[in-house]
Amino acid sequence: MAIERTLSIIKPDGVQRNLIGTILTRFEEAGLKIVGGRLQQLSQAEAEGFYAVHKHRPFFGELVSFMISGPVFISVLEGDDAIAKNRDLMGATNPKEAKPGTIRADFAKSIDANTVHGSDAPETAAVEIAYFFRSIELV
Ligand code: ADP
Ligand code: MG
Repeated sequence: MAIERTLSIIKPDGVQRNLIGTILTRFEEAGLKIVGGRLQQLSQAEAEGFYAVHKHRPFFGELVSFMISGPVFISVLEGDDAIAKNRDLMGATNPKEAKPGTIRADFAKSIDANTVHGSDAPETAAVEIAYFFRSIELV
């Protein structure tokens, strides 16, 4: 297994419900190291840029409005197989389909308010990390 880095976002519903510590604990207990992170209120342009791959999808407007509805906690996780490991911890996009014990099964209220984002592949992880962090902000 390769050491990878992946981008995680605790979405506004997770921050609003005081779940930052609980969710970061799940990452750390699974062996993922937090190598950078901060709270941020995204602007509309920042959220649109981040989700640009989805801009032609019917849910794009709702997704962006939700992502700017309150602060998010953005972090970079590092570890063996970090990208897939984080996706496993998150669970399926639709919380109704997420496996028991995953973050989305345990905390998410809907497909919009699904509590966490995680990069889905090495290429997207690299782009998403660089979107939010300079290399000197990561340890
Ligand atoms: P994931 O976050 O699991 O990688 P996607 O990249 O497919 O999922 O979608 C990005 C985000 O857009 C999802 O986390 C979810 O909040 C939202 N989304 C995806 N599909 C839908 C949908 N059919 N209806 C509403 N929102 C959606
Ligand atoms: Mg995705």
